[in-house]
Amino acid sequence: MTTLSVQNVSKSFPTAGQPLEVLRDVSLQLSGGQSMAIVGPSGSGKSTLLQILGTLDRPDDGTVMVDGDDPFVLDDTELARWRNQKIGFIFQDHHLLPQLSVIENVLVPALATGKTSQQQIGRATELLDSVGLADRVTHLPSQLSGGERERVAIARALLMRPALVLADEPTGNLDEETGERVLKLLLDLTRRQNKTLIMATHSPEVVPFADRVFRVHDGQLLTTAEAQPQIHSVPKPFIVPN
Ligand code: ADP
Ligand code: MG
Repeated sequence: MTTLSVQNVSKSFPTAGQPLEVLRDVSLQLSGGQSMAIVGPSGSGKSTLLQILGTLDRPDDGTVMVDGDDPFVLDDTELARWRNQKIGFIFQDHHLLPQLSVIENVLVPALATGKTSQQQIGRATELLDSVGLADRVTHLPSQLSGGERERVAIARALLMRPALVLADEPTGNLDEETGERVLKLLLDLTRRQNKTLIMATHSPEVVPFADRVFRVHDGQLLTTAEAQPQIHSVPKPFIVPN
């Protein structure tokens, strides 16, 4: 089943002069269990695309369907609830709450829905076990290494069984070896749970691990082969088949 269907998404930001066109006619489709890496230099529009896919920002044009829903028809309250259920976010700086323990941080998305159930506490415990942090559940984020904090963020992103997991430079703050371990863990966990994963990175170390790799180039999403400099041809948008 198609988890994510993006059609002709464009996004510009206003500036003092001409609007800054960051995304132009981006289209893609991904099914459950598929992983996709978006590479490209800093400023190429990776975060802008992830923000739109995660419904934290709206496209100027085009449609985004997640798990069969068009989230942008919802009002802000409904959208916040929908996002909490359907999207798992992992950020470079993990955004853990410093005053909460590891397991409390993992349970934050459940707290947003009201009370946490025993079932959710059980799931948080299992997820922490699967990211190798079973013996860190009562630690505070400040008592963890960078790689451990990122693994807490992965567990938190998966708590609500989201359809779509979005990771923005998840290994950007980690050394190469730790980053690679965290990345493999993220890919392995999302695959086993049949989640669709999209991760943005400016470093190419993810390339061998993701099912698909795209490059943001001149506002468009291209296969890495198409993204090579092509002096005489205009790059075409790449549509990912089902
Ligand atoms: P990346 O994640 O690939 O580094 P971004 O998506 O963060 O790139 O940014 C792409 C471009 O859009 C950059 O040139 C950035 O300055 C610009 N940009 C991003 N967000 C905004 C905004 N809210 N307002 C104006 N310009 C923005
Ligand atoms: Mg970015």
